Amino acid sequence: MEYEKKTLPQYPAAMVNITNRCTLRCKHCFIFRDGNPNNPKEEMDTPALLAKLAKLQRRHGIQTMLWMGGEPLLRPDVLQGGVKLFVRNTITTNGTLAPIELPNCIYVISVDGPPEVNDAIRGKGSFRKVMDTLSRIPQNFASTVLCQCVVTKDNEDSLAELVKLLRPTRAEGLTFSFYVPCKVDTSSFTWGSLERRDQAVRQVMELKGKYPDFVWNKRRSLELMLSEKAKSVTSRCPSKEQVLPLYQEGKEFVMPYCCYGNDVDCDLCGAWVVFHLAAKLEEAGITRP
Ligand code: SF4
Ligand code: SF4
Repeated sequence: MEYEKKTLPQYPAAMVNITNRCTLRCKHCFIFRDGNPNNPKEEMDTPALLAKLAKLQRRHGIQTMLWMGGEPLLRPDVLQGGVKLFVRNTITTNGTLAPIELPNCIYVISVDGPPEVNDAIRGKGSFRKVMDTLSRIPQNFASTVLCQCVVTKDNEDSLAELVKLLRPTRAEGLTFSFYVPCKVDTSSFTWGSLERRDQAVRQVMELKGKYPDFVWNKRRSLELMLSEKAKSVTSRCPSKEQVLPLYQEGKEFVMPYCCYGNDVDCDLCGAWVVFHLAAKLEEAGITRP
């Protein structure tokens, strides 16, 4: 056992999709787009899933679990049992269901713009549902509640308005993650080049300057996302080294290429986690060969 642990790669964090079902069907969803292994009909039962996660925790030394879906709150039994296995837990939810009180947990609620912009991407009425959910979270709810916006070419002009709408709510902060395109991406979400994305990154930098406590992206992580630096980060993706991605396939977990699936364009990746980890490595003075 000890020998096995020493020879296996160790991951400080993992992400797991505990269900392929979802209450929404967002246009930019990487779970449902082609090239990913998820089949919405197949998922493990709760005891089997938790037993496999406990084993993986021990084998890979995982401390932080990122709970994803689909919509993870569709499986509250998995969350209730699962958060006990890890030191820290982050649950990413679409805000259509009420968060449940869990220990050592951060909730991240996805919202992609003011009502019209958000609903064009995430479905009619979904912005209102997020606001309703936020308004019903009790003041003494122990978990931190954040929002996250996926910035795309389609919503890049409405980010300031979104910040204004969310600041008075129960959300303690907002992170901006930039769209991760697939290799051949014909959607309207992608800028198609890092240089064309820069304008949106600079807008988020401005919002960070204006609302430093509410916008949780690190300043340095945004600087690293600019076109002159981004490839030096994504060519050796820190998320790929530190976060073990687990998707369900039949009765097993499979490991896709990265948290965003198999068909991804690393050169144009703008995932929050990638640049956040890169900035943290810099802060810690860790230079990678
Ligand atoms: S809420 Fe998340 S999992 Fe569900 S469709 Fe939207 S992006 Fe996909
Ligand atoms: S797509 Fe992004 S998160 Fe995935 S491996 Fe590439 S750089 Fe990393």
